[in-house]
Amino acid sequence: MAKRTAIVTGGTRGIGHAISIALKNAGCTVAATYHGNDEAAKAFKEETGIHVYKWDVADYAACKAGVAEVEKEHGTTDILVNNAGITRDAMFHKLTPEQWQQVIRSDLDSVFNMSHQVFPGMRERGFGRIVNISSINGQKGQMGQTNYSAAKAGMIGFTRALAQEGAFKGVTVNAIAPGYIGTDMVAAVPEDVLKKIVAQIPVGRLGEPEDIARCVAFLADDNAGFITGSVLTANGGQYIAA
Ligand code: NDP
Repeated sequence: MAKRTAIVTGGTRGIGHAISIALKNAGCTVAATYHGNDEAAKAFKEETGIHVYKWDVADYAACKAGVAEVEKEHGTTDILVNNAGITRDAMFHKLTPEQWQQVIRSDLDSVFNMSHQVFPGMRERGFGRIVNISSINGQKGQMGQTNYSAAKAGMIGFTRALAQEGAFKGVTVNAIAPGYIGTDMVAAVPEDVLKKIVAQIPVGRLGEPEDIARCVAFLADDNAGFITGSVLTANGGQYIAA
């Protein structure tokens, strides 16, 4: 890969941690963002030497200021990985408006907030890679996750639409739909529920963050210019989407 500048949202922990390292190893200058966990970000920076930035991707103005700061320090953004996300699970009849809004804002509005900062420049320069981390549960739906499933399905619609706008300008937009990956997010799932989930995964294990990072590095590569508007499923065979 040519020397590219990449922003990875939520790039300091979990899947994002592995994505940031994979892009660094591919030769990119990486800016990893996070929201509140300073301790994890500090440890990540010390471990990897990757630059870290703190802002809330649910906040448009914060994204604007944050991307401007990254670009001032490292140059224009070639690759954006919209990875930051949260869950606030509850059965729909118990789901609060706050839980709905928090997830829509953090997981879907954030994709607009971030992509809107970098897409015009990518278009002008004739090169860009946007990779959106969706979810198996955006493809198939999941009980207790109407908010999350809606946000993650929304990311797929966004991906398919923006891909059509970017294609003739050298900007590809793709999504990855991970299955269950062993991160803090999944550690929050009760053990008995997790056991049942693993039993439904044909490869017989949770995914590793690196399984997803590999997909991102592939889609972000200079040579991946013919792949756009796609949803790359990486779920151990748990759900085979059309
Ligand atoms: P983690 O909870 O391990 O890490 C989430 C990261 O996102 C952290 O760096 C966190 O920052 C950051 N983040 C969360 N909200 C915000 C915000 N509002 N602004 C800025 N940064 C934010 O999550 P995972 O690594 O498990 O998940 C990463 C992505 O992959 C998510 O979009 C998730 O939905 C998706 N996914 C995960 C799956 C899984 O099984 N784990 C399966 C399918 C999809 P901080 O450290 O400061 O909290």
